[in-house]
Amino acid sequence: MSIKRFFVDKVQQTTELSGEEFEHAKNVLRIGVGAEVILLDNSGKEYTAIVAQVDKKKMLLNVVREEVGEREPKTDVCLLFGYLKNADKNEFIVQKAVELGVTKIGVFSSQYSSAYMNENKLERLNKISREATKQCLRSIAPTVTYLPTLQDAFVFGKDYQNKLFACEFADTSDISLADVKGSVAIVVGSEGGFAKEEAELAKAQGYQFVTLGKRILRAETACVSLTAVIMHALGEWQ
Ligand code: SAM
Repeated sequence: MSIKRFFVDKVQQTTELSGEEFEHAKNVLRIGVGAEVILLDNSGKEYTAIVAQVDKKKMLLNVVREEVGEREPKTDVCLLFGYLKNADKNEFIVQKAVELGVTKIGVFSSQYSSAYMNENKLERLNKISREATKQCLRSIAPTVTYLPTLQDAFVFGKDYQNKLFACEFADTSDISLADVKGSVAIVVGSEGGFAKEEAELAKAQGYQFVTLGKRILRAETACVSLTAVIMHALGEWQ
């Protein structure tokens, strides 16, 4: 059973845990004085701390050790996907992408999108990212960013060394996924897929078409399977 992890805004010699993380620690996990936990501040460091005091709304912990997390990916991979109607599926994609090791996640609306984002939904996806980060023993939670248009998504991924556009109507892939090296931006459409002119826009901005075969995959299948193949190609599964 791995030592429980909690996100805090700032780690110092004596650190305060409050809010949802405190409620979960105290009321669900029954963590009390003397317990050892790991504190995360999204710096990539992991701080081992001992619970010193538990109050009604917070607990105080003394940091006894700090280490650099060993489970962050070596290469930057960003998953950009079209926002789906079904909230559970968006959460599933975020959860699996975090487990697979992406470092950034973008959710966009495109021509055939039929679902719309709001602040609460975006915060929920970032909460899913933090929970998945803790569960898979990572130390940095990928940020989920909302990108109002597909063009915003293309710009978000523009500096990645490999820009891949999963195109359901591409006959062949422009690149062999097995040979991918360097940072990768992956773009996957929503239920409605992409319009031809969106695919042309992708090409014009340096994105390479990738086909995932003759069958039309659900967006969540395409996101998870393509991310997994890329992670394997980048040597993240060694
Ligand atoms: N509405 C589209 C249609 O009926 O052809 C299907 C879109 S699919 C559900 C959602 C996204 O998954 C696509 O936009 C694409 O990014 C990706 N995808 C699904 N199957 C794919 C395939 N065979 N090759 C490449 N990408 C695929």
